[in-house]
Amino acid sequence: CGIVGYVGKRSAQEILLAGLQKLEYRGYDSAGISILSGDAIDSVRAVGNLANLVDAVQRRSAAAPAGPDGPVAVATRTGTTGIGHTRWATHGRVNETNAHPHFDTTNRVHVVVNGIVENYLVLKQRLIDEGAQFTSETDAEVIAHLVSHHLETMAEPSLTEAVRAAYAELQGHYAFVAMTLEEPETLVGARKECPLIIGRGDGETFLASAIPAFLVHTRRVQYIENGELVVVTPGDVTFLLPDGTELRREIVEIDWDE
Ligand code: GLU
Repeated sequence: CGIVGYVGKRSAQEILLAGLQKLEYRGYDSAGISILSGDAIDSVRAVGNLANLVDAVQRRSAAAPAGPDGPVAVATRTGTTGIGHTRWATHGRVNETNAHPHFDTTNRVHVVVNGIVENYLVLKQRLIDEGAQFTSETDAEVIAHLVSHHLETMAEPSLTEAVRAAYAELQGHYAFVAMTLEEPETLVGARKECPLIIGRGDGETFLASAIPAFLVHTRRVQYIENGELVVVTPGDVTFLLPDGTELRREIVEIDWDE
């Protein structure tokens, strides 16, 4: 239902949580964030009000570095790359394991997804046959495993190319953002019918399903057209057609307030 993404130099945690709060008006039943730092991606998810997620993130951030959650909890404390989601369930019950972000079997690819993947059952069965272990009942999780599958089978793995290959196989109407441990300062997004917008900061870049999610940080936006992919780093944004053609997009200044 709501998507927020951030790559930059500030702590992603507060930016993602504040961004999700701005998208609350759209309604949701659960929420979550994944943050990448060093050699770990840490996820925190919670059912119900965003206040529950904020509490869970605070507890996670307070985990002792030497404790069982310490090494990954550091990511939530310090990471400057992350994705967040408010879910309005369409496929799968409302519970913590169905909340986004979703991730692949090796926990190296995380995604947040809006909308519906229509052919997820076929893709899910194929991926399970290839060894993927699913943890949720959602249609959305298939995207994490599909991107991961492409990363593992490519001669020269690249998140951009893996998302492009996955996109070619996905039917439905959706928008999603993916990140991987191997490319810590990159988010790759895709949109098909559902909205996704870029916010350009100074050495930081935002992605969201609606502008209010990042309007306190920047008024400079770039619109992603329907059917396009986008590769986002702190200082640069590349737009791609599904066939791989790169496009340039102007930056537009927003002159309205929330
Ligand atoms: N179809 C996905 C799910 O049920 C995403 C729903 C949404 O847009 O929040 O998890």
